[in-house]
Amino acid sequence: MSTPDTVQDQILIVEDEPKIARLVADYLQGSGFTSHHLAHGDAVLPWLEACPTRPELVLLDLMLPGTDGLTLCREIRQRWPAMAIIMLTARVEEVDRLLGLELGADDYICKPFSPREVVARAKAVLRRSRAAASPAPGGSDLVLDEAGWRALADGHDLGLTAVEFQLLKVMMHSPGRIFTREQLMDHMYRDHRIVSERTVDSHVKKLRRKIAETWPEREVIRSVYGVGYKYQPEE
Ligand code: CA
Repeated sequence: MSTPDTVQDQILIVEDEPKIARLVADYLQGSGFTSHHLAHGDAVLPWLEACPTRPELVLLDLMLPGTDGLTLCREIRQRWPAMAIIMLTARVEEVDRLLGLELGADDYICKPFSPREVVARAKAVLRRSRAAASPAPGGSDLVLDEAGWRALADGHDLGLTAVEFQLLKVMMHSPGRIFTREQLMDHMYRDHRIVSERTVDSHVKKLRRKIAETWPEREVIRSVYGVGYKYQPEE
C-alpha cells in the first residue's frame, strides 16, 4: 500500500553519469517500474516540488554537479518523509552516516554496482517501506512507521524518542544480526559525539521497557553477553 503522498512503482534516478542512469532505468523498466532521470543536483528539489505524482523511491547519487547527494537526502527526508531513498556511493566510509539519524537514507549501494543489484535493493526497500506504512491493526506485530518516526506494537504507538526509534529501526532492519554498542552509537548520534556505552544500554533499556508495556511476555531486543544487542522477533 502506498502512502497518499507518493505514487507506487515510480522511481526517480538522480545520477550524473548518463550511461549508468540509462542502464539502471532499463533494468527498472524491465521489472515493471517507471522511472524518471535527473542529472543535476539543482534540478531535484524543484522537480519534486512541481511533480504532481511524486515517486515512491529516489535512487540518489552522492557526488553530483550542483546540490550534492547528502544535502538532497536531508531535504527530501524533511519535506517528503514517506519517500524512500537509496544512496549510490563510491565512498564506503560515508555509509554509517548515510544510514544514520542525520541523513536517514533507507539503504545504500556501493559503486560500481550491477543494475540487477539495484533492482533487488529497490524492491526490498519498497517492500519494507510499504509494510511500515500499513501496520496491521489487531495483528501481533511490531511495525515501524518510518515516515512518522513511530513504532507500533499491535497497532499501539510505543511513544519512542528519536534515539529509541533509530535504535529499533537499525536493529529491525537486520533481524538476528548482533550489533555492538559502538555500532549502535554510530547510528544514534548525528554528530558522532562520544557517549559512553552505558548511554546505549540506558536507551536500550528504555526501549525494551516501552515494548514490554505492550508485550510483557515477549523479548524482541536481546542482549548478547559481552557483545551487544540484536532484534530477534522469534525464538
Ligand atoms: Ca556522480
